[in-house]
Amino acid sequence: MSALLQVNDLKKHFPVRGGLFSRTTNWVYAVDGVSFEVERGETLSLVGESGCGKSTVGRAILRLFDITAGQVVLDGQRIDDLSPGALRSMRRRVQVVFQDPFSSLNPRMRVRDILAEPIRNFGLAKSSAELEARVAALMDTVRLPHDALNRRPHEFSGGQRQRIGIARALAAEPELIVCDEAVSALDVSVKAQIINLLQDLQQEFGLALLFISHDLAIVEHMTRRVAVMYLGKIVEMAPRRQIFTAPKHPYTKALLSAVPLPEPGADRNPIILKGDVPSPINPPSGCRFHTRCPFVFARCRTEEPMLRSAGDGEWVACHLESLPEVPGPLGDPRVRRN
Ligand code: SF4
Repeated sequence: MSALLQVNDLKKHFPVRGGLFSRTTNWVYAVDGVSFEVERGETLSLVGESGCGKSTVGRAILRLFDITAGQVVLDGQRIDDLSPGALRSMRRRVQVVFQDPFSSLNPRMRVRDILAEPIRNFGLAKSSAELEARVAALMDTVRLPHDALNRRPHEFSGGQRQRIGIARALAAEPELIVCDEAVSALDVSVKAQIINLLQDLQQEFGLALLFISHDLAIVEHMTRRVAVMYLGKIVEMAPRRQIFTAPKHPYTKALLSAVPLPEPGADRNPIILKGDVPSPINPPSGCRFHTRCPFVFARCRTEEPMLRSAGDGEWVACHLESLPEVPGPLGDPRVRRN
């Protein structure tokens, strides 16, 4: 059976306009050839620093804009070139939970109407009684009291608002939810509650999650596979255990160096990167990471490394024949947990 979602060589370049006639003077290569799959019921996390293109990938999948090149395939059907009319059923199947529930919920609408809207729009209830029942069931699902249905978003805490955002996404009965920094704005304890809720819902409804986050501690807690992005490209993709115990790409190692160790005093050789992330308007030639990579050599400056298999479901884009052994934040994979 094919994957639920396939993203093939996705590119999104944004024009930079300037001058009197607002002509295109340059391009931002926000996403520049990204490929991955998400299976039914699995969580794939897209991680990387701010500006690496991970949120742009999520928005491209949601068809919030047209892509520059590549394909987005949902359940065997291309959705990147669908007409607005044909997009309707795709929109039901792929929903989103954004970082800031306050700005993504209409402040004038009561929770009852926020949840009823997608049910009505997608024709999922045959009568007003069924509509009411579905709305009430959604409140139970996200563990909010029914008497909250008549309140408006500003009357809730951040965590409660995110529960409403999740309920709204579930109202459409999706198969895939794009969680775009969905817990990043929440307090630590609330974060944990929302993560647990998402995991429970995933089990209950068999949902696939594309979890976009810069927070590696959370990603480690909830994902099955991880794709690491740098300057618009995936540099490493692997099952969670491999990424967090034995990362292979120098950038992944550096990124994980910043994650607090679970055991104080555990042995680790952190990689401290020099300089800032280069501009996506003028990305470096060859390997985009070469300006900051401590292992750079001549070939890296001219030839772009392709993702290649490193065994055990791992894919790495690096020219190094023998990828340096540096334990991840969870230490030696042979002696650590799954
Ligand atoms: Fe570093 Fe070269 Fe590998 Fe890029 S290809 S990550 S510059 S060693």
